[in-house]
Amino acid sequence: MVTKLITLSAIAEVRAQVCAWKKSALRVALVPTMGNLHDGHLSLVQLARTHADKVVASVFVNPTQFGPNEDFASYPRTLATDQVLLESGGCDLLFAPSAEEMYKAKPSLNIDVGPIGTILCGAVRPGHFNGVATVVAKLLNIVQPDVAVFGEKDFQQLMVIRQLVQQLDFPVEIIAAPTVREPNGLARSSRNQYLTSDERQLASVIYATLLQMRDSIRAGKAIKDVETSASQALLKAGLKPDYAVVRNAQDLEIVEKNVKSEVALIAARLGKARLIDNLSWLC
Ligand code: AMP
Repeated sequence: MVTKLITLSAIAEVRAQVCAWKKSALRVALVPTMGNLHDGHLSLVQLARTHADKVVASVFVNPTQFGPNEDFASYPRTLATDQVLLESGGCDLLFAPSAEEMYKAKPSLNIDVGPIGTILCGAVRPGHFNGVATVVAKLLNIVQPDVAVFGEKDFQQLMVIRQLVQQLDFPVEIIAAPTVREPNGLARSSRNQYLTSDERQLASVIYATLLQMRDSIRAGKAIKDVETSASQALLKAGLKPDYAVVRNAQDLEIVEKNVKSEVALIAARLGKARLIDNLSWLC
């Protein structure tokens, strides 16, 4: 049976609904998104279902996490389709606030996530992770879920959220969901829509390169050489890499001796899109 999806845009209404569920001793999960939902998002909803009685998804294109020359204005907004997908995906409540509802007063306060916000994507997108952390903190305070689900696809974001929750003592369990890919290996993303069909095929080089990076590291190649080869492979396929690196998967620091797990991360531009992906492994 398909549960009827409730859609709310007011913070007070969301609070009242979640409060009613909590009074009935129901566990609540939150899945924050920017909408334009695809199978990756829906896998998060599915995973959330296994951890909670009620699933809340949010759709909010958060202005404070976009830089001045980024795609905030053109980011695909498809709320009606998102509602259909969420309802058939077993979501109970969609929170789709306006920017005015989320930022009633012009925000004067911002969470600074510290050093992790200044490396990799944070170096290319200054302030991005502060914006993400601030909006996620707000969503966690609004919904007060028992668990919140985030995708490993955004590896650095997941780490930022884990630090946020741990260091500011949010009473929520963060659950990581594996990356859902297209048949050619390209990680599903709302930004894939910016690609032409030829570019979509070309973009499969990202996952192929991540696999190659992992295999080369496992075969004992030096990290610097692996990173250089990865950048060359991306350039050769017509992509412009922002970075192609191997890092410690625990903290995204440069790999020292005896790390438990490593992660290869790529961010690259292709046509109108900036694409990110990663692959982690145990050492
Ligand atoms: P977004 O709408 O892009 O902000 O993503 C919302 C959530 O969905 C984030 O936790 C993402 O990491 C996650 N997500 C996005 N794409 C994928 C994917 N292909 N597989 C799994 N999770 C994803």
